[in-house]
Amino acid sequence: MIDPFGRHISYLRVSVTDRCDFRCVYCMPEHMTFLPKADVLSLEELDRLCGAFIGKGVRKLRLTGGEPLVRREVMKLFRSLGCRVKTGELEELTLTTNGSQLGRFAGELADCGVRRVNVSVDTLDPAKFRDITRWGDLPKVLAGIDAAQEAGLKIKINVVALRGVNDQEIPDLIRWAHARAMDITLIETMPMGDVDADRTEQYLPLSLVKAELAKQFTMDATPERTGGPARYVRVQETKGRLGFITPLSHNFCESCNRVRLTCTGTLYMCLGQEDSADLRAVLRASSDDAVLGAAIDEAISRKPKGHDFIIDRRHNRPAVARQMSLTGG
Ligand code: SAM
Ligand code: SF4
Repeated sequence: MIDPFGRHISYLRVSVTDRCDFRCVYCMPEHMTFLPKADVLSLEELDRLCGAFIGKGVRKLRLTGGEPLVRREVMKLFRSLGCRVKTGELEELTLTTNGSQLGRFAGELADCGVRRVNVSVDTLDPAKFRDITRWGDLPKVLAGIDAAQEAGLKIKINVVALRGVNDQEIPDLIRWAHARAMDITLIETMPMGDVDADRTEQYLPLSLVKAELAKQFTMDATPERTGGPARYVRVQETKGRLGFITPLSHNFCESCNRVRLTCTGTLYMCLGQEDSADLRAVLRASSDDAVLGAAIDEAISRKPKGHDFIIDRRHNRPAVARQMSLTGG
């Protein structure tokens, strides 16, 4: 699949559920309204859709959410997609998780062919963790990370940088992750969906974080790119890899290789734009995968050049109305 700007689309992110067992302050309001079950694709439908994308050239697939591991019987989907890793049709099957259920599922994930997992941990202080996630239990997440490492999964930690909340702790998070041989990536908050908090207060530009980090770490730029928004450095002192995701800057759109599918079968060609394609209607109207393939091609032909995120005091409203938990982070 090649879009109108010559970009090869080889990476699909799939949000398998909009539901979650946490309520992170930057992601959802506490009393979040979730989608009616009838709107959500069955696991079989998700599998068929993913298969259609793989048939079209998708090589990397990430399952996310909401919290992917709270979807009932989600392991069936992992197992089916994992078979495509074993046959070589897929290069990689990964997931992004809050870690709460990793203790239960790490072994099975590894068995299904998953090799790498992204786990979101914004703080190592249990009380602060509870404040940020509202419902989360840090020791359980840390035990999940232990289980995942024991199962042989490679882990990358995702940290959303939050002004006045975890900014002072970022150096410790980096040392902790690198001491455990985990990559770590810092993420700027994105203005997506209504939450109960003031985003301009949460927003902490990573340029400031990086300048602070430079006072205690020597960061060597690396050419490593994943086709995604992260830029990486190697930290000399800890010998680990540190990524920065600055979605509000436009530095990554030109190399964007991904599209995102929601659990209702809506394909978003860009995280920061409203334009989408309703693949559920096509999927449910025809069992012919050629029809589905044509709908995917049409959607890719509409992939925009870049996003329109703005966050400042004059624009204190979400640039994109949908929550990250719907589109998948
Ligand atoms: N529940 C899983 C988790 O938390 O890792 C997967 C879904 S979550 C939406 C994926 C990632 O998006 C997480 O790392 C989360 O911290 C991040 N995220 C959620 N809302 C965000 C926002 N408004 N701005 C930036 N990152 C956000
Ligand atoms: Fe749930 Fe992930 Fe959103 Fe937190 S960031 S509420 S864990 S989906």
